[in-house]
Amino acid sequence: MTKINENYLKLPGSYLFSTIAKRVAAFKEQNPDKTVISLGIGDVSRPLVPAVVEAMHKAVEEMAAKETFRGYGPEQGYGFLREAILKGDYLSRGINLAADEIFVSDGAKSDVANFQELFSTDSVVALQNPVYPVYLDTNVMAGRTGSFADGKFAGVIYLPCLAEHNFVPQLPTEHADIIYLCSPNNPTGSAMTRAELKKWVDYALEHKSVILFDSAYEAFISDENVPHSIYEIEGAEKVAVEFRSFSKTAGFTGTRCAYTVVPKALEVLSADGSKQSLNALWLRRQTTKFNGVPYIVQRGAEAVYSPAGRQQTQEVIAGYMQNAQVILQALQNAGITAYGGKNAPYIWLKTPAGLDSWAFFDKLLTEACVVGTPGVGFGSCGEGYFRLTAFNTPDLTREAAARVAALKF
Ligand code: PLP
Repeated sequence: MTKINENYLKLPGSYLFSTIAKRVAAFKEQNPDKTVISLGIGDVSRPLVPAVVEAMHKAVEEMAAKETFRGYGPEQGYGFLREAILKGDYLSRGINLAADEIFVSDGAKSDVANFQELFSTDSVVALQNPVYPVYLDTNVMAGRTGSFADGKFAGVIYLPCLAEHNFVPQLPTEHADIIYLCSPNNPTGSAMTRAELKKWVDYALEHKSVILFDSAYEAFISDENVPHSIYEIEGAEKVAVEFRSFSKTAGFTGTRCAYTVVPKALEVLSADGSKQSLNALWLRRQTTKFNGVPYIVQRGAEAVYSPAGRQQTQEVIAGYMQNAQVILQALQNAGITAYGGKNAPYIWLKTPAGLDSWAFFDKLLTEACVVGTPGVGFGSCGEGYFRLTAFNTPDLTREAAARVAALKF
């Protein structure tokens, strides 16, 4: 009989958000008269901005005319979008990259999930704890870890992200081959400063490691000393891949568009000791396994970089960050210590004494009818913490915040 990939069996049974959904569904069934507000899952609530919609409409018309219809596009993205990204996100910030170092994709999730395929299975992985679960789970699936015991997979370097360091990971004492860094961070809402990120780039240069830098929340950065790209750090083009997404930047969670930067200066070793270009390998991988993002969607993404698109998306982001302030204020009123909400749309709160992450989830759900995400769902260091997101509408966020502020602990 056919055998399965045993690594899949190492993964703990239930995915965090499906567990939450089940608990919420049960609560709603028992309390049909109550309105539950979600500050849980990280999905946007505002529609696509007019500049994007207009560009997509135009692209639909092009697809409807025989002179301008397009079939398969380049797997790595149309030149117009790669150029717009290059100019809008890099050259304008003094970062020298080339358009063929940018790969357009259908999501940062799939890219961060797939990128590990390029590395040998015995590579040592380091990742933040708590962490966006995709980095860990995909390495488990690939067989890069041992089994799961006491909340951890054997063979993985977990980098505790603790309050005493503003939830920023500290360098490990041991050697790591692949390092996942997420800044601004999901779930903690923290962001690494230039000085903090430089330590990691220097470590990777010294250890010949590769940093997989997930910057899906770059658009939310407000601090001057938080870099918008890892390539602002000297030498990073030799050690880092950067993942960005239009999902939260421009409300593309349902539309799907993202991109990954793989500099040509980034090389890794093959078994015979020769150096291999990750850019060439990623191109090979994408052209084999991926058929590109729809033309209409790429035209929409391009419009994010137009003056109108920029202004409109910035207004949306400002609205979400206003929500973050409302939530932070409510938590302060309730006497709860909270972090984040400044460079990221996530608020990371310390659960009050006597309540672990799931006990706080239950209290919030049953007493305030508000849904959030238990921090422990993102890793053992998330125990005793809880994540709220700023992505709901202003009205519902205010309502949820008022309910939270009225809670007694
Ligand atoms: N990376 C992080 C850290 C995220 O939080 C998310 C989505 O929540 C993603 C990537 C996924 O982005 P995309 O919608 O582009 O797949």
